[in-house]
Amino acid sequence: MRTLAAVFLGLALFISAAGAEDARPVEHRGAWVWARSCPNKVAADAMLARAEAMNLNALYVLVFHWGATAAYHSAILPVNDKIEEGFDPLGYLVAEGHRRGMEIHTWYVNGPCTSQGGAAPWIFQKYPNWRTVNRGGQWVEWFDLCQPAVRDWQTRIMLEVLQKYDVDGVHFDYIRFNGRGICACASCREAMRRQTGFDLSSLCYAALPAYGSFNANPLAEPTTARILVQFDNGVPAVAVNKVGSGRVVLFNWQVEDDPSSAVNRLVLSAFEQLGTKPGDLVLILDSDINAKKYEHRAFQDARRWIGEFGFRTKRVGDNDLAKLPKGAVVVLPGFYLMQDDQAKALLAHVRAGGGAVFFDGPVRAMKSEAARTLLGFARTGRYFHAGRILLPGPDAEGWIPRHEIAITTDTESVKMEKWDAWRKDQITKLVAQVSHEAKATKPDRLVTAAVFRTKTAADNVLQDWPRWLREGLLDYVIPMSYVATAAELDQHFAWWKSLDPQLERIIPAVGAFKIIKDRPAEERARAVAEQIEVCRRQGAHGVVMFNLEGIDDATASRLGQTVFATKTRPYRPKRK
Ligand SMILES: [Zn+2]
Repeated sequence: MRTLAAVFLGLALFISAAGAEDARPVEHRGAWVWARSCPNKVAADAMLARAEAMNLNALYVLVFHWGATAAYHSAILPVNDKIEEGFDPLGYLVAEGHRRGMEIHTWYVNGPCTSQGGAAPWIFQKYPNWRTVNRGGQWVEWFDLCQPAVRDWQTRIMLEVLQKYDVDGVHFDYIRFNGRGICACASCREAMRRQTGFDLSSLCYAALPAYGSFNANPLAEPTTARILVQFDNGVPAVAVNKVGSGRVVLFNWQVEDDPSSAVNRLVLSAFEQLGTKPGDLVLILDSDINAKKYEHRAFQDARRWIGEFGFRTKRVGDNDLAKLPKGAVVVLPGFYLMQDDQAKALLAHVRAGGGAVFFDGPVRAMKSEAARTLLGFARTGRYFHAGRILLPGPDAEGWIPRHEIAITTDTESVKMEKWDAWRKDQITKLVAQVSHEAKATKPDRLVTAAVFRTKTAADNVLQDWPRWLREGLLDYVIPMSYVATAAELDQHFAWWKSLDPQLERIIPAVGAFKIIKDRPAEERARAVAEQIEVCRRQGAHGVVMFNLEGIDDATASRLGQTVFATKTRPYRPKRK
């Protein structure tokens, strides 16, 4: 009886909650959209119609990206070549969006800058030193936000739009670095030395021991593998396993994340051991099976990084593993979900004299006997994310570069913290500069940012957004919570509420594209709505969806009939 009453009570609450949402007068309902998806009036109208079908009231329009080109009429930037001549996507979206009751925010990608064609983007051809450099001394196609000249230029771009167009806000994205290892360029070294007395060269190891911040999905218990390099806690770091007439090299962490000169040297040596050198062809696996769960990032990062060494690279897919050219070297980045038949195919390839290099342990594959034989390890170890030191291992061979400098995690982590703090300050300076100038130009326009959803992830890319909120530099942030289920989303609110109990300045983002991707059409709207309901139940003042392109028309119109059934005014936080 009690159970039945509880069911009725639950049902009643559910109904009243569902009813209450219709009366909600103010709720931020946004979506990101690429201006390049609106190269002409017809395409722009289709996007606007989709947003209108969902009763959205805010669009974040990507206007600066794609090799430093613009999706508006700029005095500073060339217009992107995908946009039809004479058409001004931003101007059109501002006019038509406003007419439909939508705020239009301009969205900027502040960090990465690459061009589609392969040549360096025009801005890096003009100012090659505006790119970042990693600890290994390689260029990374990412704006060096630590340089005042770069910050001034980006501020001019973001302010130009605010002056010329009646936009409702400017929105930062990728306002961060690409991991812990950049920027170690000459300008940063000199500025740090001058400002803090700290010599960054002391963190750019060219030999072992070498300190770093590691994300590792390690394998444990070597059987036939020999340990060339180990972490200071004894976990194998680099191992080689001889199988038949070939070899398998395992880098037991996400090696492409933060390569120092020493790590670069280890990777080059590993390729050398497998009989290949810069200029040769290396195959790189881009596994669709893995990408379903982990996306394609590991492949993209590995291809870019290996390319930097001067290797020619070629993508291979899951099915290609069964027919690799004899003797070829194949790199397997983030290949966590290696299937048993793939392990068998790789085993046959290596036995016959081929080479395989794993970047990070294939931790979900170790139930397979073929995988264990291939790697020469017995099982999966424990994931770690930590500052550690790489040391020569028990089977270190002549190719391990060594130096005599004694380092400990304590001495090195203090240096790392100094470097982190300085870089966070530099990125914060760009946020502050744009914010102050934007508020001086048009005080009622919003300055916002898309940010990483967890403290660890934000720290790892030097994105100090809690400070940006604390100091009132931003009107609100949008943590990108692209998770597949409502339960996962729910877990992120605890940290956000510890920073902002009423969620006045934190509007969660929902990864609609991700929710929709693998679901049948009839389940999509309900699954997206579930996450929107989590945000409401947690007291959020709205939600932003990534991305308008990733939501099909049928799902959009279903959302517009259910969870977003009535029009609302967009939420605006009080001025700080
Ligand atoms: Zn730099």
